[in-house]
Amino acid sequence: APVIVWFRKDLRIDDNAALAAAAETGRPVIPLYILEPAEAGTGPLGAAQRWWLHHALAALAGNLSGLGAPLVLRSGPADAILDALIAETGADTIHWNRRHDPPGTAIDRAIKASFKARGLAAISFAGQLLHDPTRLLTGDKKPFRVYTPFWKALERAGEPDEPIDPPARLVALSEAAASERLEDWRLTPARPDWAARFREVWTPGEAAARDRLEAFVNGAIDGYGTNRDRPALDATSMLSPYLALGEISPARIWHATRGLDAPTGDLVHFRKELAWREFCYHLHFHFPALAEKNWNDRFDAFPWKERGEAFTLWTRGLTGYPIVDAGMRQLWRHGWMHNRVRMIAASFLIKHLMIDWRHGEKWFRDTLVDADAASNAANWQWVAGSGADASPFFRIFNPILQGEKFDPDGSYVRRFVPELENLDAAWIHKPFAAPEAALKSAGVDLGRTYPKPIVDHGRTRERALAAFKALKAD
Ligand code: FAD
Repeated sequence: APVIVWFRKDLRIDDNAALAAAAETGRPVIPLYILEPAEAGTGPLGAAQRWWLHHALAALAGNLSGLGAPLVLRSGPADAILDALIAETGADTIHWNRRHDPPGTAIDRAIKASFKARGLAAISFAGQLLHDPTRLLTGDKKPFRVYTPFWKALERAGEPDEPIDPPARLVALSEAAASERLEDWRLTPARPDWAARFREVWTPGEAAARDRLEAFVNGAIDGYGTNRDRPALDATSMLSPYLALGEISPARIWHATRGLDAPTGDLVHFRKELAWREFCYHLHFHFPALAEKNWNDRFDAFPWKERGEAFTLWTRGLTGYPIVDAGMRQLWRHGWMHNRVRMIAASFLIKHLMIDWRHGEKWFRDTLVDADAASNAANWQWVAGSGADASPFFRIFNPILQGEKFDPDGSYVRRFVPELENLDAAWIHKPFAAPEAALKSAGVDLGRTYPKPIVDHGRTRERALAAFKALKAD
């Protein structure tokens, strides 16, 4: 009988344990992707990631055809789709790589139980993470809540399993199972085609992920530890969207950083970032409420402001603080934002505008190509100060100083905020403080060509600190 391989957030043939094991059975393999209803799993995919998913599936389908077994696409609730496919093909076994988001694992558990009851086999494999969240635990077998001991345990746990190469061939069904058409899913925008600009920086698909990894380990990893905070440099791996949909495995990345000629400090720093992803996933797995609720419920009483006009200006990159605006426009344009600037822009929303982090999280979810339930919520809560092992609330990023420190010549701002392109570096992060002559010669007319600050940094900082203090007094 055939084996179904159900692809989820593992849209790759490389280092895919579920697929490799199915190939080894020598039985016909039915590769399957299910477009689950929006309310299943961790909720609807954002618009940016739907675009990515389309191209990731097209690439996966091409790779699987090359191995001899075409990808079957179906949409609907997973249990019903699987039952129908079993009835049509006589399959009696299903393989998948575990996902770790709580709603997704609940679906998988129910399917496993129903299969067992009917004498069918559902076999799950590892691959989304370096270490399983049920295994990497504290000395008293509890989940970690603090990053540093988590990292130490991860280091102690040793190397993750060796990645598995793609199978050489798959046996196909003698008569292919019916498939829906990818185009009919309308995952990509039609009019306007806003994703056209994504193509300036992104090529989805497994092959492109490997190319990017290769380029990174032969290039930017050298100096990563310091350059990673400079948004104008191409100094980070930009692997996050590939990881989010599993076009590359974290184990493949980890192993690619072994035996390199780069400084040890840079290698360790990079691995520590992969470990942050891991930490976010483990937290979300053990504490499902992380995605929606303040981890620290003291923040439930925080006097958040209405979303209103300020929120709209933030989303559009029109706050009058150039580093924030450049970040928000990079996000809109490329579906991605540099990590340093994500922190600054998130802090601005939460602390200067006093808008609930959940609104920001939602906006990011819809606009990031690497949107990820665990990493997104955990990082927003980290910035808000409400999360596990979070940055303290009173540490309020100063968007001017942050800009001057991490984008000293302003080239990042100039790239995404062209209205300020000709402004002298001395004023690029604070055009509102620039002398009239400097603005004039740069063609900047504040309030017309570029906004005046929508809030005053000093005053809103004090306002946020006062609100936080009142919270503590309660
Ligand atoms: P690199 O510097 O090359 O790092 C390598 C990998 O490590 C990344 O691809 C990513 O998987 C992981 N990583 C790095 N930093 C973090 C981090 N702080 N938390 C978790 N994993 C990390 N990342 C997402 O993947 N999805 C999100 O939805 C997301 N939302 C975020 C929201 C906010 C407010 C902030 C501050 C950060 C968020 N991040 C998110 C984390 C981080 O910004 C991105 O992972 C990183 O910018 C991706 O770029 P890169 O692949 O070049 O990273």
